[in-house]
Amino acid sequence: MRGPQWLERGMHHVWLPYAQMRTAPPPLPAVATRGRTITLADGSELIDGIASWWTACHGYNHPHIRQAVQAQLECMPHVMFGGLVNEPALTLATRLADMLPGDLERVFFTDSGSVAVEVAMKMAIQYWLNQGESGRTRLLAFRGGYHGDTMATMAVCDPEEGMHSLYAGALPEHFMTDLPTDDMRTQALDSLLAQSAGRIAAIIVEPLVQGAGGMLFHSPEVLRTLRTLADRHGVLLILDEIFTGFGRTGTLFACEQAGIVPDIITLSKALTGGTMALAATVARRHVFEAFLSDNPMHALMHGPTFMANAMACACANASLDLFEREPRLAQVARIGAQMRAELEACRHLPHVVDVRVMGAIGVVELDHIHDMNALKAALVAQGVWVRPFRNIIYVTPAFTITAAELRVLTTAIHTVLSGSVQV
Ligand SMILES: *Cc1c(COP(=O)(O)O)cnc(C)c1O
Repeated sequence: MRGPQWLERGMHHVWLPYAQMRTAPPPLPAVATRGRTITLADGSELIDGIASWWTACHGYNHPHIRQAVQAQLECMPHVMFGGLVNEPALTLATRLADMLPGDLERVFFTDSGSVAVEVAMKMAIQYWLNQGESGRTRLLAFRGGYHGDTMATMAVCDPEEGMHSLYAGALPEHFMTDLPTDDMRTQALDSLLAQSAGRIAAIIVEPLVQGAGGMLFHSPEVLRTLRTLADRHGVLLILDEIFTGFGRTGTLFACEQAGIVPDIITLSKALTGGTMALAATVARRHVFEAFLSDNPMHALMHGPTFMANAMACACANASLDLFEREPRLAQVARIGAQMRAELEACRHLPHVVDVRVMGAIGVVELDHIHDMNALKAALVAQGVWVRPFRNIIYVTPAFTITAAELRVLTTAIHTVLSGSVQV
């Protein structure tokens, strides 16, 4: 079957993400989205199980978001943020400050998650520099973590996932250890900090779920331990809520489940409801105050060209309206309960080693995936868009997904895992 002409021609010129371009099967041409459905060029439809890397939390093409973007497009699509401010951005900053716990109240806008994490790292290092501490240039990060694909963020990702050996020499070295999930690891972390806190600007962690590293869950207790140890040894705590933020784990922000307030938090992914690229790094008052002085060198020297893009901020404000007006957290709880019930049937299938659910994240973990391409094709043949990676199949649907649509997703996974496809 021949695809549309733009596909045939364009595929000679486009470079795809995370793909071995010689052997990867051709990508599917998407031509339209609506609700939880993706339409392909041949007219076929897929039910979307991952909401475009879990960004499209209200489903695609939500009319309220569309209207907000259209209205902003007509009056002022973008204006530089250096020396000028715009209403959607300042309203969004105010709303985020109101929603976030504690005194997380100072918002720095960027246009991708990786850059939001880089800004958090710069903030943390300069926080100490501005107070005369020049030795604190390292971060402390955890195995299994994922914080982005740029050079600086790769260096705080899991060493294997972040391809530290491939890029050895090109990446700065940080402290990398295990999450304090038991007494032994907590003690190890405590002594590492006792020894090296003077070289560490901040601890960085994805709260409750290490997402792209394999959808690994940990308890709120782990976060309370990190907060305690960060305070004990005088280092900052950065929570990367780019995956977990905006309801995905069952509360608006994952840190709420631990009752802790980080010094810096990063947000993106579902911030605009999946419609436009936008990210935010939000700092607590004491972090921001460390940048206030008569010394121009104490300013935060960062400013992306499209920072605080007015359409993206209008879009995020519309997304927040939907969190206020519609029962998103109840929907997350309903999705979680349904996934818990329906994915359970996968637990005893061949190769399945774990089935786990948190909020609106459902995971079926296999001992290994023998033929990833065959598995992906089999899922598409079932009419669903689910993208397994490493050894897991996961579902992170839009919160507006219907019970019937979700049932199609969980049934497809069960069918494929119990079927004839050699996965
Ligand atoms: C996706 C993600 C990032 C990177 O965001 P990009 O927009 O892809 O740069 C960083 N941290 C976490 C936890 C993520 O899930």
